[in-house]
Amino acid sequence: MKVPYNYLPFEFKENHSIFDEWKKLIRSTDFTLGKYVKKFEDKFAAYTKSKYCVSTNNGTDALILSLKALNVGKGDEVISVSNSFYATTGAIVAVGATPVLVDCDERYQINIDEVEKKITKKTKVILPVHWAGASPDMSRIIKIARKYNIYIVEDACMGIGGRVNGSHPGTLGNIGAFSMHPLKSLNVMGDGGMIVTNNYKIYQWILKYRNHGMVDRDNIDIWGVNYRLQPLQAIVAINRLKVLNSVIKIRNLNAKYLDKKLLSLYPNLKIPKRINDHVETFSLYMVLAEDRDKLLKELIRKGIEAKVHYPTPLHKQKAYLRRFKKIKLPVSESQSKKLITLPVHQFLKKNQLDYMIKIIKDFYLTN
Ligand SMILES: *Cc1c(COP(=O)(O)O)cnc(C)c1O
Repeated sequence: MKVPYNYLPFEFKENHSIFDEWKKLIRSTDFTLGKYVKKFEDKFAAYTKSKYCVSTNNGTDALILSLKALNVGKGDEVISVSNSFYATTGAIVAVGATPVLVDCDERYQINIDEVEKKITKKTKVILPVHWAGASPDMSRIIKIARKYNIYIVEDACMGIGGRVNGSHPGTLGNIGAFSMHPLKSLNVMGDGGMIVTNNYKIYQWILKYRNHGMVDRDNIDIWGVNYRLQPLQAIVAINRLKVLNSVIKIRNLNAKYLDKKLLSLYPNLKIPKRINDHVETFSLYMVLAEDRDKLLKELIRKGIEAKVHYPTPLHKQKAYLRRFKKIKLPVSESQSKKLITLPVHQFLKKNQLDYMIKIIKDFYLTN
């Protein structure tokens, strides 16, 4: 039996409604920004209960734009985590600031006890990640940020459709950045991203900077960039936003089923604690596994496309060590040797989940 990780062939099997809208767009030749991009931004602002949304060409640029909007640059420090996708630290480096990476906790989220210890006069931003589509304790991060008068930029790239005590990830800090990469919970047929904020000044600046600093066709106010979302992708995003809640619901059902069935494998397999008032997106369903590399091999051999996110934390990457001092983050380092990501997507059938559970159980019983 095959248990695929990639759900895209199933997701876009039925695409008539997207094609119909694409045809309208092609007839209009409105190929930059325009009404579909604006419509998506309005819908996403409403969905997240944010005042403002600006779409971007991807999640990395959404993070860069967020930091730039707060005038973060050379000489500034940004506190973030090492166990994330490259783009989190990459965005900090791209704006010329210094990443100050802290360790994570047992739920793979930023260790908030470590954050306060790392604050200096140069700290301008805390950049927590909603890693895997789960969330850190945002209320504690907000308290620290208020106490020291620093900004919060949330990397909510994997958090679209989640909830933190009733709020949407990315809406609790000053700015939230999201990605619509094909493997995120709200995805397009290529790259896309967005930013949300409740601050009008920040919104106006981002809007302008994203589009060459233009005030109108003949005048620029500041030097900007072109980080625009493609209208073709805005159409896909509007279409996918309609099914987002049901995607999250099915992923949660699958994750809860896996949690329940794999619980008995403790301590060989450790499932992270789930928080009652949080809704995770399960962009990644990750557990800590003994003999991870052997288990991974066995799963692949049996047709189950498990993955590792990631075998090397950011502070151990060559790119990091070229520029910054060596640091030790024992939890991230030890987790990177044990984490395994199992398929959990919305197109999996119960027999595929059961098959995966059986293979994992057999592995630990015979090893
Ligand atoms: C995907 C992702 C990004 C980058 O988004 P892109 O759209 O691929 O540029 C940044 N941070 C995290 C946590 C991500 O998962």
